[in-house]
Amino acid sequence: MFGRGLIKGLGITLGHLFEKKITEQYPEERPVLPARFKGSFTLKVPKCIACGLCANTCPNSVIKIESEKDENNKKKLTGYKMMAERCLYCGFCVEACPTKALMWNHDYERAKFSREEVNLDLFGSYVPSPEDDQPAKSAKEDEESAQAS
Ligand code: SF4
Ligand code: SF4
Repeated sequence: MFGRGLIKGLGITLGHLFEKKITEQYPEERPVLPARFKGSFTLKVPKCIACGLCANTCPNSVIKIESEKDENNKKKLTGYKMMAERCLYCGFCVEACPTKALMWNHDYERAKFSREEVNLDLFGSYVPSPEDDQPAKSAKEDEESAQAS
């Protein structure tokens, strides 16, 4: 029948018209992110033992660590840089960290004007927080808190 396609199309349009609106008016409205969202990286410097596992596991040589030995011949972190422009967001580094010093955060506004600005100095930009002195959670506890949120 002539016009049947038009009516069908308008029916679909009308159906969408009365649906719940899902468009977010960003940046005025901020998105609600899932707990495991991968934005950028946070390094809890006091928890880092400068073992280098994160750097060794990175497939793209993004992470550069500097360390020195303290008076007890123990490694101490003195620098932690990430050439984030080369990061694949694979998460191997975060998974490899034995002390949960390196973690994902929810910083998703990472667009910059130059490549250099994208790179991260996680040691130099570290801001101490009382949370950093808390013992690391086990993988199971971590999963439970992710499910709860
Ligand atoms: S997410 Fe992957 S590519 Fe990026 S720094 Fe970590 S291991 Fe390297
Ligand atoms: S961030 Fe984790 S894996 Fe990387 S050097 Fe520090 S303790 Fe080791």
